[in-house]
Amino acid sequence: MSGLAFLNDGVLDLNAVGSLDELRGLALACRRCGLRAGCSGVVFGEGNPKARLMLIGEGPGADEDRLGRPFVGRAGQLLDQMLAAIKLERFAHTYIANVVKCRPPGNRAPTFDEARACLPWLVKQILLVSPRIIILLGSTALKNLIDPRASITVMRGQWLTSKSGIKIMPTYHPAALLRDVRKKRPVWEDLQKVRDMYMSLASAGS
Ligand code: SF4
Repeated sequence: MSGLAFLNDGVLDLNAVGSLDELRGLALACRRCGLRAGCSGVVFGEGNPKARLMLIGEGPGADEDRLGRPFVGRAGQLLDQMLAAIKLERFAHTYIANVVKCRPPGNRAPTFDEARACLPWLVKQILLVSPRIIILLGSTALKNLIDPRASITVMRGQWLTSKSGIKIMPTYHPAALLRDVRKKRPVWEDLQKVRDMYMSLASAGS
């Protein structure tokens, strides 16, 4: 692995990384937190590298860990259906990544320190994909990207805007819908807002 990304103090410096392929190569060798010791491998992310819409989840589960791809288990299948319902297809229209790229044991939520260690990879992914819209799927994505005190129940369905102008929509994680079908309606409402924003940006050519 190139020493490019790691400064002597362990801080991750990704300024010189110019492509998702290069970033993936570096991330696959990452050992910045203890999660890597307990998983099969780093699940980097996938999709259209120039997608207008990016989706950010929590972390890989058992199926994702086994296959090395994000959102491929039951929650992933539901996510594909949710996207299809708003006439979007994951590989054509979205790029999908997680807050942490290694599976937390027992599918627990990542700790604050694990998420902090992994966040530079995600931030660089966002910079390289340069989406116009981001959907934050669930509490872990909301807390680690927006505000550690934020509640997904309170914040879902409300547009946020990043300093660089990215429109951000928090909503429930598909796994939460599998546990509680009452969350399907609010997620459907959130996705309709995303679809409208997506179409509006697309028709404006941005
Ligand atoms: S979870 Fe992220 S920071 Fe931790 S080892 Fe995996 S890629 Fe590195």
